[in-house]
Amino acid sequence: MADTTRPINETPARDAEIDRVFMLQKKAFAAEPYPSVGQREARLNALIHAVETNEKRIIDAVNSDFSSRSRHETLLAEIIVSVSAAKAAKRHLKKWMRARGVATPVHMKPARSRIEPQPLGVIGIISPWNYPLQLALSPAAAALAAGNRVLIKPSELTPATAEIMREIIRAEFEESVMAVVTGGVEVGQAFSSVPFDHLLFTGSTAIGQRVYMAAAKNLTPVTLELGGKSPAIIDESADIGKAALSIAQGKLFNAGQTCVAPDYVLTPRAKLGATVDALAGSARTLYPEIDTSGDYTAIISQRHFARLKALVDEARNVGAKIVEVGSSNALDPQRKLPLTIVVDPPPDIALMKEEIFGPVLPVLSVSGREEAIEHINDGERPLALYWFGEDSAARNEVLRRTHAGGVTVNDTLWHVAQENLPFGGVGKSGIGAYHGEKGFEAFSHMKPVFYQSRFASNKMLYPPFSEKTDKLLKMARKII
Ligand code: NAD
Repeated sequence: MADTTRPINETPARDAEIDRVFMLQKKAFAAEPYPSVGQREARLNALIHAVETNEKRIIDAVNSDFSSRSRHETLLAEIIVSVSAAKAAKRHLKKWMRARGVATPVHMKPARSRIEPQPLGVIGIISPWNYPLQLALSPAAAALAAGNRVLIKPSELTPATAEIMREIIRAEFEESVMAVVTGGVEVGQAFSSVPFDHLLFTGSTAIGQRVYMAAAKNLTPVTLELGGKSPAIIDESADIGKAALSIAQGKLFNAGQTCVAPDYVLTPRAKLGATVDALAGSARTLYPEIDTSGDYTAIISQRHFARLKALVDEARNVGAKIVEVGSSNALDPQRKLPLTIVVDPPPDIALMKEEIFGPVLPVLSVSGREEAIEHINDGERPLALYWFGEDSAARNEVLRRTHAGGVTVNDTLWHVAQENLPFGGVGKSGIGAYHGEKGFEAFSHMKPVFYQSRFASNKMLYPPFSEKTDKLLKMARKII
């Protein structure tokens, strides 16, 4: 997918335009290092205004980038999610900006200790193509709420959306507050070598690693929102029909081009046939007319379409059973790939090694909970995990013995859609998190400040040291 052929540690060329805007923002931040609540609210309002007044143009741009993107998906996952991130930040801004008092140890009293959030400066955001507006603007809302300046580099695979983002941001914001620079891999490389005060990257694990290395040269702190193979586990105690409907919905939203889409299913061996039938039935219920209805989104490019087809072909060639739900010749020219279930594929094919990122769904049968846990723990730590069932002891055991960036129980995707839960990966699925207060904190320096009291007793520990110091230290060791 991404170009990973260049040497990983090569020093990229700088980009004069990126450097110019970065320096402009840096100077502007230095002149106004602590924007007031009112200024931050005004910036969040401008962001909301930019999106809401250009809703139709955004929907059209995303649709043209995908060649066909469901209007409802764009409304929900781009417009509503971005606006709700900005609104939630506005609602909680005063509380988030407040200093947090923390307890001071008894031997240091009557001093006081506080954590005082401080804007970091200029934040860089590199975003992917799959949710091209949301994954640029929802971190931008958090960065603006935290009092920063923002520079965004969207994906080159969604040029119409990138252009409209640039236009609507330019119309609402001074370049010194927030701006968009566009371009492909070279621009991305130059962007990640800029000494931002924080860099948030959303994209593939392979490119995330490159961005991390480029940022390390400046010791720029990063949030890396990456991908992975997110499992959906159907427990013995689950209602197969309900689980299958949720899994199909989560898999087929944006045609599987979602970082937290269930990548594959683990189901009890005795229920394999029932699971496959229920998944196929659910897909038909959700998308009865794939070719004529605008509900089902196309695959982003011919290259991505061919990659998905090749994953299925390899599985077919090694003898795996394939169930194509509603496949028809009319779909290929539209780059629409219906749900394609691959039953019990072998572990060594690309389908079971790469993140699928499309509507191809391996369904693996397991002997029980233990095998499901082992399977997950044998792979890299995923971005999401979905568990279906009613047996809470079984659920707790799976949650305690596996790692995942985030979890939804008895559904898919929804843990990502609410601002009160942090969103991020673990292990190879990411570093750091954002959304809600966690996003505000990610783009702030949570500065510890110790306010000494004029009645401080620590002066008794100043040199020259004496026997009295020894006695005091002995006492101190008893109370710490
Ligand atoms: P990608 O890694 O190919 O590209 C992401 C961005 O990085 C684009 O803007 C691209 O231009 C830029 N880029 C490319 N090469 C670069 C380089 N060498 N240096 C700096 N920047 C570079 O990802 P993609 O194909 O756009 O998106 C799909 C991937 O993103 C999937 O793996 C998916 O799981 C992941 N993703 C993760 C999340 C999340 O929140 N964790 C969300 C959406 C997508």
